[in-house]
Amino acid sequence: MATSQAPVEPPKRRRIGVLTSGGDAPGMNGAVRAVVRMAIHCGCEAYAVHEGYEGLVQGGSLIRQMHWEDVRGWLSRGGTLIGSARSASFRERPGRLQAAKNMVLRGIDALVVCGGDGSLTGADVFRSEWPGLLRELVDTGELTEAQIKPYQVLNIVGLVGSIDNDMSSTDATIGCYSSLTRIVDAIDDIFDTASSHQRGFVIEVMGRHCGWLALMSAISTGADWVFIPEMPPHDGWEDEMCATITKNRKERGKRRTIVIVAEGAQDLHLNKISSDNIKDILSKRLGLDTRVTILGHTQRGGPACAYDRWLSTLQGVEAVKAVLDTTPTSPSPVITIRENKIERTPLMEAVKLTKKVSSLIESKEFSKAMDLRDAEFREYHHAYINTATPDHPKMMLPDKKKMRIAIIHVGAPAGGMNPATRAAVAYCLTRGHTPIAIHNGFPGLCRHHADQPISSVREVQWLESDNWVNVGGSEIGTNRGLPAENMETTASCFEKYKFDALFIVGGFEAFTAASQLRQARGQYPAFKIPIMVLPATISNNVPGTEYSLGSDTCLNTLVTFCDTIRQSASSTRRRVFVVETQGGQSGYIATTAGLAVGAVASYIPEEGIDLKMLLRDITFLRHNFSHDKGANRAGKIILRNECASKTYTTQFVADMIAEEAKGRFESRAAVPGHFQQGGNPSPMDRVRALRMAIKCMQHFETFAGKSPDEIAADELSAGVIGVKGSEVIISPLGGSNGLEATETDWKRRRPKTEFWINLQEVVNILSGRPTNGDGEEGHPGEGWGCYEST
Ligand code: ADP
Repeated sequence: MATSQAPVEPPKRRRIGVLTSGGDAPGMNGAVRAVVRMAIHCGCEAYAVHEGYEGLVQGGSLIRQMHWEDVRGWLSRGGTLIGSARSASFRERPGRLQAAKNMVLRGIDALVVCGGDGSLTGADVFRSEWPGLLRELVDTGELTEAQIKPYQVLNIVGLVGSIDNDMSSTDATIGCYSSLTRIVDAIDDIFDTASSHQRGFVIEVMGRHCGWLALMSAISTGADWVFIPEMPPHDGWEDEMCATITKNRKERGKRRTIVIVAEGAQDLHLNKISSDNIKDILSKRLGLDTRVTILGHTQRGGPACAYDRWLSTLQGVEAVKAVLDTTPTSPSPVITIRENKIERTPLMEAVKLTKKVSSLIESKEFSKAMDLRDAEFREYHHAYINTATPDHPKMMLPDKKKMRIAIIHVGAPAGGMNPATRAAVAYCLTRGHTPIAIHNGFPGLCRHHADQPISSVREVQWLESDNWVNVGGSEIGTNRGLPAENMETTASCFEKYKFDALFIVGGFEAFTAASQLRQARGQYPAFKIPIMVLPATISNNVPGTEYSLGSDTCLNTLVTFCDTIRQSASSTRRRVFVVETQGGQSGYIATTAGLAVGAVASYIPEEGIDLKMLLRDITFLRHNFSHDKGANRAGKIILRNECASKTYTTQFVADMIAEEAKGRFESRAAVPGHFQQGGNPSPMDRVRALRMAIKCMQHFETFAGKSPDEIAADELSAGVIGVKGSEVIISPLGGSNGLEATETDWKRRRPKTEFWINLQEVVNILSGRPTNGDGEEGHPGEGWGCYEST
């Protein structure tokens, strides 16, 4: 006999709210997109709270459920599409009471807040008051016990969205690199007019009480002087600034003068230093034709740069994971980043530290304030000072410690090679070393070293290298040739020019070159000098680092390329672009660009391409387009690394998609080729070039006075500088634990373990791409309509 069974109610889905608050920042949309899609992926419902906390207080239509397709295309949009506001009512308890009521009524028990320190403070206040707010709502009859019962704990996770990069505990905030890009682009343009008229420019940048934007833009543009709130200049700074600028112009022949001033700049006595102030000093004392440019709100706008898209996406994903992991007793986390590692930090600790910085500045304890900013900030400041104030007697080394430092570029050009060389040269001159450029790589050294009219080995002059600060490619010339092709001559050149250290900037060939020199030390004592590799390649495939100079420039170029071609499709028919990326045997660029543009898929050599995969993706695309209600006809992107498959070429994949689409959509192959090397290096590549080049020079200095054998015996005398997880470290090439033996896949020319490989999964999750089956399976709770990439 059949028994009747009551229908089983499916368990209630968790509802996660997301809001953006405080000043808007590029990348906030990427964060919202990631939170919404990751929440749906994890079986939760996502709600956008519009207009910041004001939306929570007012409720109603300001709190809206978000579906998969609602955030389509958001990665490439500037500002915040769910609005931001400064909410006075949320600052007061009655406002927060109303907010709590709205959340309970909407069944939202977790909130991801993307904003600055003010917004995150508000979030924590809300969480700590939550039980009391619920009690009051019941006591006053606004809600019943039954209504509040499921919502005893409020989960809050913070994301730091701010262009100022003013939050302690994180190296970067969502938006700061986009803003820096805007500033640096503007100053690059000003260079031309400043140089033409031999003018001075005082440029005021945003940042409130934080000097990060000012300092990083000064580094990125080789500014003559910078004013930041955390490091007020000594009394008498007017004379010092004028002396430096006079020296740069008169003695060194610099035609342009750039002074950068943070909006919060002040002197030691907390008197504001304004851009007009500085302009008057330069005009009156030096008779310099000086103009002021206040960049203003242009610094906030525009689409997010590649890094902010990557950061906001990964942090949004992490925020949802944190919501799901948080227990009733664990403190609210804020998602942070240290170098290359995304972490969780107790939200209130980060906010407390940030507030402490402001109060230390107010009480004139500047050094302590600097300590509480992230460690790399102070390091960047030192690095800038070391390169911007040459001839400082305190910096000059005694003669016996001065070195002849050779600089060589090896492999394909990459953004950041020139800024790295410039930084090394400037540092060398400050310390009294002799910087020597080897032109056109190792073949250049071997061909033109002899006493020819133009030798390939030349000392670098300050003015020449100073102009390289924003130039892409390689000004001293780069070459793929390796020393082993002519070891004998290479060694005799090293002897002839008496190199005391070798600084190699380049990609996998640079790594190989250093390894060859190290291994030839037994035969050629000339190589018993410290040798450092600074990885610079768009492929980002050098063992010993998770980041190579030039890879960020390349990503930005690819992002612009993909955004542009995708938009081109919006006025025509539905279209899929199969974009071929460089990267050799490493899928890094294809994967990270996939993450940054919201690609449907990234085809990489590490995974290869097979027929099943193609068929599944075509089925996926067909379903995807058939559920496209025409709201967004912009194209879709598949990224294919150039070496992903010998058989399934870019054109083949595009043709196959077109054939199988059966007229429902089109497909095109697009090959950006060398365009990917980018034009001017991105600000991130410029600032990291400076920091890492100087670290290499400082590393060389530790070998001063040591004998060749002592040097050769030290494993760190031949190494690679790089980012590994949350640190910047130098890894030795040789030895049983060295990179050559343990981390290098020589055959495939990449590291054995690629830190980014798991990002493939994130690309797939966020595009909704099925990775097994036949491509028809649905998504938890959403059905096919939810599968919309971009
Ligand atoms: P940011 O988040 O960029 O620092 P604000 O400091 O203006 O920007 O803060 C944004 C919003 O966060 C405020 O308008 C307010 O609604 C809320 N907020 C800030 N501080 C607090 C606080 N101490 N208590 C409650 N809410 C706050």
